[in-house]
Amino acid sequence: MSLFQCTDCGGVDNTALCHYWQRQHERLPALCSACDPAIRAWHGHFPQKSAVGYWVDAGGHLWQRPEQAPVTYTIVGQVTATDTASVLVARWKAHRGHPQGEDVDDAL
Ligand SMILES: [Zn+2]
Repeated sequence: MSLFQCTDCGGVDNTALCHYWQRQHERLPALCSACDPAIRAWHGHFPQKSAVGYWVDAGGHLWQRPEQAPVTYTIVGQVTATDTASVLVARWKAHRGHPQGEDVDDAL
């Protein structure tokens, strides 16, 4: 199952339990089922919780522990109260584009 961080509430949701892929296709922000205006209800398959403490891969998906991610996935950081998954991915992409830039490890 793929987890992501809601860009509205900052919580964790599963891509299969909301309109994540449809919204990605339409280039809309990733929203959990509770924040998605087309749903406006939590699905109830697991409790709503913050994404703080989850690890983020380069695709923006969340992992409870970095070793859970397949070896082909690059962990780019850990969600904190101030850094969201999208910020971590954007920082990682900027770093890759600028080899002389800030070391990604400094972001952890
Ligand atoms: Zn949300």
